[in-house]
Parts: sequence; C-alpha cells; structure tokens
Amino acid sequence: MSAAGSRRAGQAQRSGEPRLRAVLWDMDGTILDSERLWDVAVYELAARLGGTLTPQTRQAMIGATAPAALATMFAAFNLDPTPQAFDDARDWLDNRVVAMFAEEVPWRPGAKDALGLVRDAGLRTALVTNTKRRLTECALDIIGRDFFDVSVCGDEVLRGKPDPQPYLRAAALLGVDPAECVAIEDSPTGAASAEAAGCAVIVVPCEVAVPPGPARVFRSGLEGLRLADVRDALAVRGPVRPQVGPVCENERS
Ligand SMILES: [Mg+2]
Repeated sequence: MSAAGSRRAGQAQRSGEPRLRAVLWDMDGTILDSERLWDVAVYELAARLGGTLTPQTRQAMIGATAPAALATMFAAFNLDPTPQAFDDARDWLDNRVVAMFAEEVPWRPGAKDALGLVRDAGLRTALVTNTKRRLTECALDIIGRDFFDVSVCGDEVLRGKPDPQPYLRAAALLGVDPAECVAIEDSPTGAASAEAAGCAVIVVPCEVAVPPGPARVFRSGLEGLRLADVRDALAVRGPVRPQVGPVCENERS
C-alpha cells in the first residue's frame, strides 16, 4: 500500500473502533454471478450421473469445496464414490466450468465499483475462494488482478470454507489480524468461514438465504456500498476469536 493510501485508510477510521486494515473478497456469487454457471454445470453433471438434483441438495452444495459438493451429490444419488468415479466427475465439472468462464461471466451488481472503492481507499485486499486455483486464474483474467494483493484458493488449504482456514491464510499472507478484516460473502458456507476466522462479514446473499450471526451485517447487494459501511461492519462483530492450526499444505506438522 502506498503512503498516501495508508493515510487515507487511517484517516477514515473513527476513534475507539477496531481499525480496518483489509477487505477479503469471496468470488463466486459475490463478485461474479458465477454461481449460475456452476448451477448449469452441476445439473448437467447430475444428468450424466443418472440422478436428479433436488433443490435442497443443490443448496447444500453452494459455496462448498468441490470435493464436499461432489460428496453431497454422490450421497444423494446413492453412488459409490470410488476414487476413479470421483475424479472423473470432478474433472468433468472443472472442464465444463472453465469452458463457460471462457465465454462470459456476468458481474454481480455493484461489485466492480465496490472493488474500486476499496482499492482506492488504500486498504489491503485478498480474494478468498473455495474454487480451485486453475479456475480462479480464469476468473482473475475477467475481474482484474490489480484489485487484489493476494488470493487463496480451495486447493491451497487443508480445509476449505466453512472452515476458517482460507480466511486465516489470507490474513496471514497480508500480514494483518483477522479481527481487522472485513470479509464480503454471499453464502452460509462462506459467512461461517469468515466469522470463525474472526473477521467481520458483510453478507450479500445471492442464491440462498444466509442466517444471522454475531459478526454479520446484511445488505441486499453491493450497489451503493460506501467505505463507511465497510468500517461500520467491524463495530458489530461479536467476541469470535480466530481458530489456530495449520492452514496450508506446507504448514502441516
Ligand atoms: Mg460465494
């Protein structure tokens, strides 16, 4: 962050409130309307596997890691999750979504302006997603890499969202305390992850409703988001403290 950026971020903080140092962005359903693409791919995969996806099962998959989502689907269809069957399904899903990302991915309303607002304020930023690195790189080509200092993907942590590890790793990479971070999330899975890491959370529901929580503030969308709204999110966070433990493969004991 530039010196001017540091001054802007610091001047914006009111006395007696936690200091806002970073904003941690979810991707699917928060920045990009990519949950719709995942929706198409998941229903196509269900048909290939000979099953019918109920709305309840589909909702349980939103925001989950790919292995967790596929495990939910295999269980719902009473399929034997052999390593070969599981890998084939995962590869098919990845390739289908990559192909759709190459065509067009719509933005969520207000997301691009909100990213610019945070960047212009000189705050540190991270992209924190359960999506794998390969797909995230495709998405970063669409979103713009300059919006983020770092990114954390689902295949770079031991446990993805709803575990706190992705958010803990992002904060560590940025060199900030999770308690000084605001996460922006659209799903119950993502909000739970950020909250458990000790972040405040601005929830902008997309495909599914998100339950209330002690560290969560809700908005209908990102349109009209102000820096004051992001700072104010820190003030409502309850006494949730970060969990500790290894957060990536090379930190495994
Ligand atoms: Mg999401």
